[in-house]
Amino acid sequence: MIGNFRYKIAKMMGKFGQKIVGLNGGMGKSFPGWLFLKIGSYEALNNLAKEPEYGSIIITGTNGKTTSTTLTIKLLSEDTEICSNFESNTINAIATGLLKGNSKLGVFEYGIRDFEHGIPGTVQRLVDPVGVVYTTISKEHTQVLGVKNPFEKYLAAKTELSKNMTKGVVIANADDPRTAFIGKNKEKDIHVNYFGFDTDNVVDIFEDKPIKCPKCGKDLKYTKRFMNHRGIYECECGFKRPEPNVKLTNFKLEPERWYITVEGEVYNYTVDKNVSFKFDTDVPNFGIHNLYNVICSTTVYATFTPSPEKIEKTAKKVFSSLTMAILPPGRFEVVKLNNGKLIGLGQGDNGDALKVNILCMKPYIKGPVEFIYTTPDVGEEEVFEDHLEAIRTIKPDHLIVIPGRESVDIAKEYYNQIKDEFNADFYPYPYDEMKKRINGMCDLVKESKYDYILMTGCGEEQAMWEQIKQKIKRGNK
Ligand SMILES: [Zn+2]
Repeated sequence: MIGNFRYKIAKMMGKFGQKIVGLNGGMGKSFPGWLFLKIGSYEALNNLAKEPEYGSIIITGTNGKTTSTTLTIKLLSEDTEICSNFESNTINAIATGLLKGNSKLGVFEYGIRDFEHGIPGTVQRLVDPVGVVYTTISKEHTQVLGVKNPFEKYLAAKTELSKNMTKGVVIANADDPRTAFIGKNKEKDIHVNYFGFDTDNVVDIFEDKPIKCPKCGKDLKYTKRFMNHRGIYECECGFKRPEPNVKLTNFKLEPERWYITVEGEVYNYTVDKNVSFKFDTDVPNFGIHNLYNVICSTTVYATFTPSPEKIEKTAKKVFSSLTMAILPPGRFEVVKLNNGKLIGLGQGDNGDALKVNILCMKPYIKGPVEFIYTTPDVGEEEVFEDHLEAIRTIKPDHLIVIPGRESVDIAKEYYNQIKDEFNADFYPYPYDEMKKRINGMCDLVKESKYDYILMTGCGEEQAMWEQIKQKIKRGNK
């Protein structure tokens, strides 16, 4: 806490900052908060965080943060006044969201790469959230700015965000042993609401990779695998998948829309009692991973809405009106080209994301596939290993390798490692001529003689993938 006078000045300046940037994307997502914290100090965030009547919710995880946050915002804002910020991963962005004022709940996305590049403990102390939400935790980049980032450390940084919470609710993915483990450890302190799949209609296509028990380190035994390390699992030490409070109980794939049933019974923090619900709805054909984002956001919504009687109606209304536009810029989607070819394209930075993209495209593939793959950078060999495993599963008839990040040399090296295994070609488009790279990739799609094309891998989501997507869609008009 800081003195009242300094806080008032800082808030005034923060609001002034909002006027300057007009809150339009880019700088607008963090500049006012930066100015506020600069004048008021980090401690001022503690004062600001007390403004929403019910408190704030922070959403974190490796994948799914932005979509889960966006959906949560859509759901909660039907029932109450909220302030929010998403697609930005800093304390400045949280402060910017809180500066809006006059809200009952704050909803914020917060990404944590490790202790060096995030301050999860400080954020928890200052924002003092009533909800911390874990989407899923997978291996990410193993090296950031030249520093090795072991998975254990990454997991510990994520855990830190809820470690000292003494009130509120932790929301965790039950199907993900890492987020479930964080939840299990919090059950002694506060309420934990889990979400997960309860259906036979979702089956993973990738080779089972051993997943270590987060409690004892032995290999987990899976009776079901839904997606990568997500499934139904148990360990001889006693650790097992917790029973989800919110479940996806039915899933039917139709070409345009997917039909789902969601059932739940959760502890609602705002009204301090248990609430139950069940609804059927339809959503865009946006991939299994987005069904996790649907049940994650439903759980957050049901846990914090001050009007639990509206859950079924609001959820149906929000989900059934969703279109592909819900996806953040640059993310993977399947597009039908004018010539009838199908292309699945978008970012797939880490191993988990690339597999998820392939899973998304898989149901549509009915013939030979061309895979246009963009590689990771120097020091990201583990990401490449994960990507390679995914490429092997899809067995492309033709593989094109392109540098996804800065180093063309390392891309060539990755290519050399796989060129004998696949019918492969290498296109060394340089990083500093991004326009050339983007045009080159679009031309490859145009000239492809395959009916099914996958174009995914590493690369900046807005600077590269979103531009490619726009260009391809424009050419389609
Ligand atoms: Zn164990």
